[in-house]
Amino acid sequence: MATLNRVFTAAAGVIALGGIVLGTASPASAATRNGVCETGEFCYYFNSNTKGSVSDFGGSVADYGTKQPSCYDFKGSGAGKGKCIKNEAASVWNRSGKTVRVYYNTGYKGSYQDFKAGAKGNLSATLKNQNASHRFSPPASTGRVNLSYALYNATGRISCHFDGYTSTPGRHEGIDFVRGVGVNVRALITGQIIHVARGRTGSGGLSTISIYNASLNKSVIYLHTAPNASLKVGQTVKKGQAIALESWRGVGSSASAHTHVEMRPGRQKYASKSVGDPVLSNPNPNAFWNSLGYNVR
Ligand SMILES: [Zn+2]
Repeated sequence: MATLNRVFTAAAGVIALGGIVLGTASPASAATRNGVCETGEFCYYFNSNTKGSVSDFGGSVADYGTKQPSCYDFKGSGAGKGKCIKNEAASVWNRSGKTVRVYYNTGYKGSYQDFKAGAKGNLSATLKNQNASHRFSPPASTGRVNLSYALYNATGRISCHFDGYTSTPGRHEGIDFVRGVGVNVRALITGQIIHVARGRTGSGGLSTISIYNASLNKSVIYLHTAPNASLKVGQTVKKGQAIALESWRGVGSSASAHTHVEMRPGRQKYASKSVGDPVLSNPNPNAFWNSLGYNVR
């Protein structure tokens, strides 16, 4: 009985101590990397929905390092504690008063995602476990246009990122965009048409337009659209030129209409198989699109 009592007393002591530790964490210590996400800080979490171990920052970091003991690591209690944060974060909480931008590459390069002051959220499919640097008050991204805008010359959205399948079996070899059945779809790069398959609406009716840019030695392939009647193999199309209407050729229903855009190295007439194919054949296209002045969004 006496032993049991001591156990309870000790446990109560630990709880009380825990309470005191939490109570002393204040905004005054915001600059300290202490594993607590405090006012004024930007914080990474190891798991989605701001769960798991936290890594807190009072400023920008261009390179996190990749090896202990010198890397920036997760410091809070919970899953991931002690791991280097590079390519390991799933969510963030921006408790600073500034916008913070998370980048795919070190040195504030590559695809990115912005978190406004006070924002709390998961990293996008592109950046989840692919975080390599972050910057407070990032420069305005002048001159860059979103792919989802350029494809339609109007507002669209990405419905599935590269390798972004969550419930479909296989690996997604391109990026899916949505605006609506019947809207113009435009060429994202200049090049020569090397293949057109018109297809038909519904599953099994896949349409394909492949445009090859010789100087970049890349093919950009558009699936599921209704290709314009005038399109011919050998024709040169300019960036921004309307080439098709959004449709659901090779897609089960009109409600799922979208345009799949796939970048492939070299001269490729056909898209890689995505659905049901466990092998990812294409490289991640985000750096390619960024190099052409596009944001992958
Ligand atoms: Zn797709």
